[in-house]
Amino acid sequence: MELLKQKIIDEGIVLSDQVLKVDSFLNHRIDPPLMAEIGKTFAQQFRESGITKILTIESSGIAPAVMAGLELGVPVIFARKRKSLTLQEDLYTEKVYSFTKKEESEVSIARKFLAVGDRVLLIDDFLANGEAALAMARIVHQAQGEVAGIGIVIEKAFQDGGSKLREQGYRVESLARVASLRDGIVSFAE
Ligand code: 5GP
Repeated sequence: MELLKQKIIDEGIVLSDQVLKVDSFLNHRIDPPLMAEIGKTFAQQFRESGITKILTIESSGIAPAVMAGLELGVPVIFARKRKSLTLQEDLYTEKVYSFTKKEESEVSIARKFLAVGDRVLLIDDFLANGEAALAMARIVHQAQGEVAGIGIVIEKAFQDGGSKLREQGYRVESLARVASLRDGIVSFAE
């Protein structure tokens, strides 16, 4: 997606060879028109996939997931990282190792929001080693639903998440694929 790539070039900050900071439009401040375009693009890619729900993880997946949900006309669920007083129902819970925080945590969603046979589109802001996407996929499988696809805003193609997920048979669509962050420069895969 050219608009997104240009935004990354203009505003992305390379923190290291491994980490890209995009807090001016995705991870802290959010650019609504860009999110709307992202939502439209995901919807075009997955419109024929019979999606019934979108699942993401709080917080940075929510904006792109909501815009895709609006376009596809389906509800959006975000897995929560902390169990709060208001999240006391029956839960699906999975462990996820955080690439940015370097620690394991748990994500949960209320069982009532996923039904047997749901066709779920997983959406996330970044794909690194695939841990977040795999944790979401395990939740969908717990609920006896099906992962109908995975939509990623920025895939770091030099890390192994993309190949891991594709090898497992998942359809992964990334709107920008970063080939390298070497020497402080973002280069794209194609
Ligand atoms: P994975 O689970 O695929 O290893 O990592 C994806 C998750 O880690 C995303 O949900 C995202 O929050 C975070 N993440 C991974 N790499 C980056 C990065 O380069 N920049 C930012 N801002 N977040 C990242």
